[in-house]
Amino acid sequence: MNPQQFSSAVLDWYDHHGRKDLPWQQDITPYRVWVSEIMLQQTQVSTVLGYFDRFMHALPTVAALANAAEDEVLHLWTGLGYYTRARNLQKTAQIVMRDHAGEFPRDVEKLAELPGIGRSTAGAIASLSMGLRAPILDGNVKRVLARYVAQEGYPGEPKVARQLWTVAERFLPHERVNHYTQAMMDLGATLCTRSKPSCLICPLHTGCEAHMLGLEIRYPVPKPRKELPQKRTLMPILANDEGAILLYRRPSTGLWGGLWSLPELDDLDGLDDLASQHGLHLNERRELDGLTHTFSHFQLAIEPWLVHVDEQAGAVAEGDWLWYNLATPPRLGLAAPVKKLLKRAADVLNAGETP
Ligand code: SF4
Repeated sequence: MNPQQFSSAVLDWYDHHGRKDLPWQQDITPYRVWVSEIMLQQTQVSTVLGYFDRFMHALPTVAALANAAEDEVLHLWTGLGYYTRARNLQKTAQIVMRDHAGEFPRDVEKLAELPGIGRSTAGAIASLSMGLRAPILDGNVKRVLARYVAQEGYPGEPKVARQLWTVAERFLPHERVNHYTQAMMDLGATLCTRSKPSCLICPLHTGCEAHMLGLEIRYPVPKPRKELPQKRTLMPILANDEGAILLYRRPSTGLWGGLWSLPELDDLDGLDDLASQHGLHLNERRELDGLTHTFSHFQLAIEPWLVHVDEQAGAVAEGDWLWYNLATPPRLGLAAPVKKLLKRAADVLNAGETP
């Protein structure tokens, strides 16, 4: 197919099958498209729906996001993971208010300079909300194009990425760029799926090289594998008489930056120090089921211990520490595994089981 046939096939498919009822496709603004695009990175549409509505309800404008408390933003993000995205979202909102009079720049390169907005997200904002002719290459589109041209090499390598961007530019139409962009994302998400592409009903199948070769799954070529290093940590879940759990706020940079988390120890010997630091008397303890959390560069095995404590007179949690009431949880950003562990602890405490 030549570029014109390619984009016509895609647009025709969009007219009949494209998704047009997603919340960020209504009342289209750069702000709404941008927030949805950031949420959709590494997260499926079905998961994002609820998060997007809550986020827009709480922070309906770029000004509201710029002025919100960081804890509020992280709270709205809790469960979506990759919290740098949430912090960058707020940084970008503040830059848009300060340097661009509250309007997103109508320029892909300027958009791509904002924190957390790469070239593809800039292209999506520009094409979907401003109708500018800008290509995108998010995970879904990358898969469609890599298969269509049977692109060799791992797309994470700069040389391969450049080749795919050239392909994306070549097929980009001059009209209806917004619909074309949406259609390409939808094609990747619904037809050209990772493990079971529906080639026979795909509008591109007559020109798709991977399909003609019968090698759809081979593309995009995966990242060369390397084993992730393993780390372990012990997380004490210190529960007081009211069933509240001692949490601390992690430093704003680094892993789970700015989120509230459980303390971490090398082993149970560290419990005494932790207790005396907070004026606590240690009572019964029990180990809960452990969990493993995978970060991009290592795997963390977490051993949770539920420990019942009494607070000694005058003991207070202050500064970066607080007692997190499980019955009436405050609105805080929590790391996803910590949220899971608090749920496990709540189940045990509610069942009246002694730690
Ligand atoms: S023909 Fe199959 S592999 Fe090719 S783009 Fe369509 S769904 Fe993907």
